[in-house]
Amino acid sequence: MDELLEKTIEECAAFSKKGKVASYIPELEKANPADFGIAILSSDGRFSRAGDCHKRFTIQSIVKPVLLLQALLDNGVEYVRAHVGVEATGKPFDAINYTEQSLLSDHINPMVNMGAIAMCTMIGGGSYEEKFRRLLDLTRRLAGNDSIELDERVYLSEKRTGNKNRALAYLLKTYNMIEDDVEEVLDCYFRACSIQVDCVDLAHIGFTLANHGRRMREEERIFPAEYASYVNAILMTCGMYDGSGDFAVKVGVPAKSGVGGGIMAVVPTRMGIGIFSPALDEKGNSIAGIRALETLSRKLYLSIF
Ligand code: GLU
Repeated sequence: MDELLEKTIEECAAFSKKGKVASYIPELEKANPADFGIAILSSDGRFSRAGDCHKRFTIQSIVKPVLLLQALLDNGVEYVRAHVGVEATGKPFDAINYTEQSLLSDHINPMVNMGAIAMCTMIGGGSYEEKFRRLLDLTRRLAGNDSIELDERVYLSEKRTGNKNRALAYLLKTYNMIEDDVEEVLDCYFRACSIQVDCVDLAHIGFTLANHGRRMREEERIFPAEYASYVNAILMTCGMYDGSGDFAVKVGVPAKSGVGGGIMAVVPTRMGIGIFSPALDEKGNSIAGIRALETLSRKLYLSIF
């Protein structure tokens, strides 16, 4: 398997030249577009990796499924479903998605920014400091890595420039979809996006979702199996931004990408995959990362369809 991953990197690396690293968060522009890593954790216990799989990057939108899990753990399915919809918006992740002077929970989903900002308010905790701490703890538990930390520079860079997210959060407040102080909620969201991970962490988090809430060789469930079904279904329809349909056809597994260049893929019951290659396509997905997943899906028969 390590060989297959190395070959996949070799074959797909050139695609990164067709993409661009994100620059709307200034600190992300410092990424090296040539970095490329893949890690896979399979249910038979095998761990395979290749390339820059220990290089760290910010989780960005891949925190959204973790946020959703935390919201589910703290509030249950009914409450979360009533406040954040599950329909694909078909629009970019940061779209101002409201119509006819109203904004309803069905206009958003957990994988777009508005939904994720709303979910920050649902994390249990007496303060936003505590809410973020709990989210960080869940990320560490899912990844089995206690050393996961915040990238302070990316956090401050986004906090300083994230005015589109500010606009989205104030809209949520205007339409009574969040009650708390907007800047506090946003601070939690910006911190969440700036959690630093590597491909190995993403493979572990993906594996836990593939394995219905249990980490490899652990009996204890981190979350109930029904939450895995909920999260994986939404990843399938909305996880790859407005490229989710195309990804479903070409790769066919639940996945989430982030503008930091990461992709986490979940192959239910079989494996978790983490990929990092920071040059993005026009929708915000890692361009070489998607190619690599297409190749792996073909060679390992990963599509669930
Ligand atoms: N922090 C980023 C933002 O809100 C996350 C976007 C992404 O990875 O899709 O713009």
